[in-house]
Amino acid sequence: MSSDWKFFLDACHETFDDNQLFEDYARRFSFGTDASFYRLVPKLVVKISDENQLAQLFGLAQQFNVPLTLRAAGTSLSGQAVTDSVLVLLRAHWNQIKILEAGNKITLQPGVIGADANKALSPLNRKIGPDQASINTCKIGGIVANNASGMCCGTAHNSYNTLAGIRIMFADGSVLDTRDPTNVACFRLTHQHLLAELETLGNLTKKTFNWLKKFSINIESRILPVTASML
Ligand SMILES: Cc1cc2nc3c(=O)[nH]c(=O)nc-3n(C[C@H](O)[C@H](O)[C@H](O)COP(=O)(O)OP(=O)(O)OC[C@H]3O[C@@H](n4cnc5c(N)ncnc54)[C@H](O)[C@@H]3O)c2cc1C
Repeated sequence: MSSDWKFFLDACHETFDDNQLFEDYARRFSFGTDASFYRLVPKLVVKISDENQLAQLFGLAQQFNVPLTLRAAGTSLSGQAVTDSVLVLLRAHWNQIKILEAGNKITLQPGVIGADANKALSPLNRKIGPDQASINTCKIGGIVANNASGMCCGTAHNSYNTLAGIRIMFADGSVLDTRDPTNVACFRLTHQHLLAELETLGNLTKKTFNWLKKFSINIESRILPVTASML
């Protein structure tokens, strides 16, 4: 056990109630299992009650250099929700639903199950955009982070394309609510370096557009023989 990890664990015990920390193998193993074929067992599972606690956990993780992974329903297929470090779950009450503008918008907390959002909207003949096959289980936190899509919504109504706004906590504990212009202006001032780096990354991506084009041509040329062998 590294000294950083020991100090991190001690600090978690000082900060959180015992019933929020799972250290026994059975629960680490079961919470650490998702729908992918990857297997990693977290060293610790933490259940978070509110934003303050999340900020505290982010602070400890930074201080002791410990990676955190959030988990919603764990239906990801590519190992997004597994870790051999710390797995972070939200307690059951992060599930508020608020319908706005006669169902044209809906505000959802990250613990809301996708199907429950649709149930709330159905009297208004509305639904959320993403319609993944796992919608009866998966939760908004995972739906948004994965940019989940589905058989009918395609890319036009996937998560990113139907988001009107989002409240995010960054690893430094700061909160950005894109629906609040004052908060956005403040964030722009306090996170100038991050935004500048993102802008550079965005410009680089645009500049490498030719690579993307080349990549798609390669894919097409690979698909043809596969299709032929299927016939
Ligand atoms: C049978 C089946 C069918 C599926 N069909 C589809 C489909 O049609 N379309 C599709 O797109 N996907 C599909 N999936 C994949 C998966 O179900 C979706 O991507 C789903 O939206 C993931 O949600 P989740 O709640 O399970 O998230 P999780 O798997 O728990 O997490 C997903 C990601 O979100 C992050 N995360 C979770 N909560 C938060 C949070 N509060 N804040 C920040 N990050 C967070 C996690 O770290 C992880 O990276 C399918 C999966 C299965 C098993």
